[in-house]
Amino acid sequence: GVLLALVVWFYTWAGTYFWLYAWGAVTLFSVFMAMFYSQLIVPLFNKQTPLQEGALRDKIQAFAGKVGFKLDNIYVIDGSKRSTKANAYFTGLGPKKRVVLYDTLIDELTEEEIVAVLAHEVGHYKKRHTLRSMVVSVIQMGVLFWLFSLCVNNAALSEALGGDRAYFQLGLIAFAILYSPVNLILGVGMNVWSRSNEYEADAFAARYYEGGYLVSGLKKISVKSLSNLTPHPLYEYIYYSHPSLLKRIDAIKRIHE
Ligand SMILES: [Zn+2]
Repeated sequence: GVLLALVVWFYTWAGTYFWLYAWGAVTLFSVFMAMFYSQLIVPLFNKQTPLQEGALRDKIQAFAGKVGFKLDNIYVIDGSKRSTKANAYFTGLGPKKRVVLYDTLIDELTEEEIVAVLAHEVGHYKKRHTLRSMVVSVIQMGVLFWLFSLCVNNAALSEALGGDRAYFQLGLIAFAILYSPVNLILGVGMNVWSRSNEYEADAFAARYYEGGYLVSGLKKISVKSLSNLTPHPLYEYIYYSHPSLLKRIDAIKRIHE
């Protein structure tokens, strides 16, 4: 709501080129959120603690040292508060980067499997996936605001919705209607790209750690999240950001052959 209010304010203040200012403001906001999300938003709902001393930490330390990833960037989150799903993710940029492991993951997986899953997340970082997706989403945002400016300044669209001249509000509604098919197509492209990143992160984990542990870890995670093992290929192509489990396992096994 605050961001939309800001966009409206830019529109009244800057006119035709308001979309450039809006793009800039939203970009600043998303970079800020990407950096501080873990520090500002996550603590409202969950507790994050640094990894405890012990056998798991030692194993992770050995792996992290090998690939050059700082151990103090690894946290455990109390995901069990709300869900039985086990997961891990990479978040943040630059000095604010961290890998977050769910406590459920630590309860369900063996230590080797946890290191393998962590290796996958570190792979996303090492292959610069997080940085690249940030850049792509900024570009996407720019295109979105530019298209939006075409709709807002177009009298014909406002007239089609009952206005007598170009209105910001009617332009916004017209844009929302016209953008949804564009968004579907862009989403397919993003998913194709995201799936190739997943294969790359899996390959990183297999190469620098051990594919077998990643396979058994992924199996446990997908049981927990009740994921579909055999989605329809077309459905998977359009909607899946991650390849289905059997495809990932096949690809990991091929690396070791
Ligand atoms: Zn991944």
